[in-house]
Amino acid sequence: MVKKVELSIVLPVCDEAGNLPELFSRLAAVLRPLTNDYELILIDDGSRDDSWRLISEAARSEPRIKALRFSRNFGQMAALTAGLDLAMGDAIIMMDADLQHPPELLPRLIEKWRGGAEIVNTIRHETGNGNLFKRLTARVFYRLINLFSGLTLPAGAADFRLLGRKAADSLKGFREQARFLRGLVNWLGFRQEFIEYRVDKRPSGKSKYSLRKMAAFSLDGIFSFSVLPLRLAAALGLLVAAASFIYLGYTLYIRFFTDRAIEGWASVLGALLFIGGLQLAFLGLIGEYIGRIYEEAKQRPLYIVRERIGQ
Ligand code: UDP
Ligand code: MG
Repeated sequence: MVKKVELSIVLPVCDEAGNLPELFSRLAAVLRPLTNDYELILIDDGSRDDSWRLISEAARSEPRIKALRFSRNFGQMAALTAGLDLAMGDAIIMMDADLQHPPELLPRLIEKWRGGAEIVNTIRHETGNGNLFKRLTARVFYRLINLFSGLTLPAGAADFRLLGRKAADSLKGFREQARFLRGLVNWLGFRQEFIEYRVDKRPSGKSKYSLRKMAAFSLDGIFSFSVLPLRLAAALGLLVAAASFIYLGYTLYIRFFTDRAIEGWASVLGALLFIGGLQLAFLGLIGEYIGRIYEEAKQRPLYIVRERIGQ
């Protein structure tokens, strides 16, 4: 029989050795007045620094800490999923381990939940600090994803949230490879509430999301939530076909009803290249979806566990 707890906190960790000691002490301080009945679930996602040593030491000396170590880096979404799979809490909080998600916000999350919310989301409050480029690209991304997917994600939605037991159990049922959790949580429904927070600076280490990783993550979001790109491609194809049909009528008219002749291999070549390019681009687009079907069809596990400490 597994022991239930009131609150689980899931923390994905990838090279956060410099942040863990402060994280542990700030979490303990915040949780003390809230509840005694909690568990911390730390997922070491292939760290190459001292993170696992710190996590396993903590887990050995504190029974409320559970530790899981992946066999390699599987990504933050996989780590969050592993945490969710382990969590026994009536409420589950997911947050970054780099202290950018301030532990001091936990009382407000829990207050909302105790007040009846089944999911409590957080939204980054736009402050002057932080990378301007990242903020701009994020804004464009949220416009696009909402447009394409029919989701209503607020700009600045973060992977810092509380899930009630029912929502968590529903989310556990999603075993797809492309895990855009923000979208999935939004899709779940339930009574969702939002609170704003200010992102703190990372005390130590740097962001694990390079521009390339961010772009891949954004594409995951769009392609796993929408077939609108395919529809747009089809619509554009029809449009070009209609235009060429009209043009054909025009050339026939010139040929039979005037004594002019239509000249120009340049325009023929231009049209040919245009259509050719369009076809290749749309093949690529279809390929993107096929690649994703292939990834999902393999049904590989989302993560591989190397070590585990605590029940
Ligand atoms: N993280 C992870 N695996 C990864 C990348 C990140 O477990 O492959 C963790 C990381 O340790 C942190 C959280 O996910 O606790 C958010 O990552 P990061 O701070 O690098 O992202 P950003 O704040 O730049 O969005
Ligand atoms: Mg961070």
